[in-house]
Amino acid sequence: MQTNNLAKTYLLNHSRDELVQFVNSIGIENYRADQLFKGIYHQLLPDFNNLTTLSKELRKKLNDSTTLRTMVLTKTTKSIHDNTTKFLWLLADGLKIESVIIYEGKRTTFCISSQVGCALDCKFCATGKMGFLRNLSPGEIVEQVLLMKERAENPPTNIVFMGMGEPLLNLNKVLKASFLLSDPEGLAFPRKRITISTSGIASGIRKLADSDAPFSLAVSLNAAIEEKRRRIMPVSIKYPLDELKRSIKYYVEKTGKRVTFEYILIAGKNDSKEDADMLVKFTHSFPCKINLIPCNSLDEEYPAPTPSHVKWFSDYVHEKHRTVTVRLRKGWEIQAACGQLYSENNSKKGSKVSFV
Ligand code: SAH
Ligand code: SF4
Repeated sequence: MQTNNLAKTYLLNHSRDELVQFVNSIGIENYRADQLFKGIYHQLLPDFNNLTTLSKELRKKLNDSTTLRTMVLTKTTKSIHDNTTKFLWLLADGLKIESVIIYEGKRTTFCISSQVGCALDCKFCATGKMGFLRNLSPGEIVEQVLLMKERAENPPTNIVFMGMGEPLLNLNKVLKASFLLSDPEGLAFPRKRITISTSGIASGIRKLADSDAPFSLAVSLNAAIEEKRRRIMPVSIKYPLDELKRSIKYYVEKTGKRVTFEYILIAGKNDSKEDADMLVKFTHSFPCKINLIPCNSLDEEYPAPTPSHVKWFSDYVHEKHRTVTVRLRKGWEIQAACGQLYSENNSKKGSKVSFV
C-alpha cells in the first residue's frame, strides 16, 4: 500500500511540454526533459535510479520530488485456454481497477480502464454493478499500459478503452492519456489503434468529433429498438437512439472515419429477426463495421445465445451488406471477458446514475 507517493509529482500525468516546464521549475536544464521522457517511455523506468545519463545528485532530486509509479499489482490471473491475462491494480488511494491483455493471432490487445467502476448501470455488465467511484487520471491510464507492457508476451498492437468505466465521461483525461501513449518521442503507439468505446454518450461523441482527436471510436449499440435498449442500458433514456444516431452522423461527417458498432447478443432480449433488421437499419447510413459479442452471462436473466443462433444472426446481418464479425470469447473462465471486470473496492458503494 502506497502512501508517500501521493505527495510527489506524478510525472505520467505530464505531456512532453509539461515535463519541460516541470524540469525547468525545479532548476534542471530543458534538454534533460528529453532524457527523462525517453527513460520513462522507452526504458519503462519505474524510477530514476538507473537513468545513468543523469548525475547522482539529479537522480536523487527527481526521486525525492516525483514518482513514476502509483499502482501496485495485487493479482494476476491467466487463462489456461488462451493466455488472456487479467491484472488487478491497487491505486494510491486504496481503490482497485483491472486491465486485461488479450492475445489473438498476431494481435495483442491491451484493454484498459478509464474509471473506477461505472455509473451507467447497464444491466448485463459487471462493472455497472460496482457503480462509479472516481475518474482515473491520465497517468493512471498510461501506467496501466506501461505496467502491462513490462509483463506482456508481445508489445501491444491495439489499445482499447473497453475495461472499466465510460471513457466519454472522463474524456479530457482519456484524450490526454491517448496523446501521451501516441507521442512520437515516447511509446509512439499508432493513434488509429487506440479505440475509445462508448455506451452512447451523444454529447461526448460530438465533443470527440470537435476535438479532432485521431483515435478510433466504437459505440456499444447493443439494441436498436428504443424500448429494448432502455431496458438493458439506462443511458438510452438520456440519449435516445435518434439523438445517438445524429451524434454519430456528426462524428462521421466531421472526421471522415468509420465507426465500429458493438452489439452484445443476449438470448431472448435483443437477438430476434426484428432486432437484426433494426440493427441493419440503424447502421445503414454509416461507414461502419459491426462487432457481435455473445453475452458473457452474469446471471440467468441475461443468458448467452447458442452458437448456432449467433451464427444465424451474424449471417442474416451479413446478407444485408453489413460488415460483421463475431468477437471470440476470451478469458471467460477468469472473468476477464467483456463486461466481467469487477473489483471489490473494500465494500465501497459506488454511485449510479438515475435518468428516470
Ligand atoms: N463503457 C464503455 C466501455 C467499457 S464496456 C462501453 O460501454 O462501451 C466494453 C464493452 O463490453 C461494451 O461494448 C459492452 O457492451 C461490453 N459488455 C459489457 N458487459 C458485457 C457482457 N456481460 N458480455 C459481453 N459484453 C459485455
Ligand atoms: Fe459502464 Fe460500459 Fe459497463 Fe455500461 S457496459 S455499465 S457503460 S462499463
